[in-house]
Amino acid sequence: MTTQAPPAPKTAPQKINLRRPDIMEAVQAQVLSHYRSELVDRIRARGNVLSAGGLTIKLAKEFGFCYGVERAIDLAYAARKSFPPDTPIYLLGEIIHNPEVNDQIRHLGIQTISNKPTPEEWSRLKHEDVVIIPAFGTEVSTRRQLEEKGCILVDTTCGDVMSVWKRVRQYSKETVTSIIHGKAKHEETKATTSQATAYGAGHYLVVYNLAETDYVCDYILHGGRKREFLEKFRGAYSPGFDPDLHLQAVGVANQTTMLRGETEEVQRRFKAVMEKKHGPEHLPRHFRFFDTICGATQDRQDALQKLLAEPLDLLIVIGGYNSSNTSHLAEMGEAKLPTYFIKNAAKMVSDRLILHYNQHLHKEVETQNWLPPAHITVGITAGASCPNNLIEDTIRRLFELRGISVQELLAGH
Ligand code: SF4
Repeated sequence: MTTQAPPAPKTAPQKINLRRPDIMEAVQAQVLSHYRSELVDRIRARGNVLSAGGLTIKLAKEFGFCYGVERAIDLAYAARKSFPPDTPIYLLGEIIHNPEVNDQIRHLGIQTISNKPTPEEWSRLKHEDVVIIPAFGTEVSTRRQLEEKGCILVDTTCGDVMSVWKRVRQYSKETVTSIIHGKAKHEETKATTSQATAYGAGHYLVVYNLAETDYVCDYILHGGRKREFLEKFRGAYSPGFDPDLHLQAVGVANQTTMLRGETEEVQRRFKAVMEKKHGPEHLPRHFRFFDTICGATQDRQDALQKLLAEPLDLLIVIGGYNSSNTSHLAEMGEAKLPTYFIKNAAKMVSDRLILHYNQHLHKEVETQNWLPPAHITVGITAGASCPNNLIEDTIRRLFELRGISVQELLAGH
């Protein structure tokens, strides 16, 4: 079935250069004052380790803000500085997945609207209102509607996300169904899937994990109950998608922040099943893949892998609970040792009680007696959307729970 492309905008998108030296200089000073941590810089300079009173903390070599997030935040701050204070500036959803950063953006006077605006929000938006598109992008239809309204767009979509879009559009042109390894409800994946259907007759299917991959691979090879398939993947495929028709040629891509090992396994399993079904000589016609894990996600996963190879007693992962890349760091830790995924230092209520996110239960849970009184080593990492000031708060709190002031500790070195 052909998917109708949304109509082209009547007005050309308005472009504005926010990266003027005068603006960026002021922005960078403000951004540093909000998110930088001198303490983290000092620990990094000392080999990522700090020890006192029987407590050693070890930071992963790579953690925290990635280039895409830094750029998105800079552009949001620059937008507020460039336009007169009475010009309304709206943000589609969240700039990145970190509640503290989103609060700061709201304090600048930037108003948040839904990432797919409601009818009421559309009626509020006017010609020449400024709208910020977040780092994970937006759906094609939303962007076109904004352009039709004549809004001024500040597009902070990360270049790595746009590379995935390019790949998916290519699959679509070649009538290859995009299999996206990702979370169907994540903003980035929604934006990516919209690219698969916006410019032609493309289809997509989102698979979240290896169990779903195996289900689809089994269907490709042996067929199955179509109704059950469509029910199982409801909300994760394109309009008109028919597993009997649209799994003849598939191209795998992924949300940029998935676990590298799992994404590779998804590719391997689809490749194997297509080879088995169509024969090795026809494989190029039926299977494509493109690794779209971003460099920053990869660096953070690699650094954590190295940290986990050292003797640690527990791991703390800091970041927003809806952050995909952070949740994968927590997953890596959980496989190895006690791991606590927290959004800020206040979650370490005492040395007896910590509140932390359990991503399998989708809620915050309590753990008692989490910080052993003996000599221990605590690993620390943080997702790509977590600012260094939150990492500093966590370090301070850990030592404070042992009755040690970090300030005094550093002064003594
Ligand atoms: S995590 Fe990767 S894709 Fe996402 S904003 Fe950062 S660099 Fe870009």
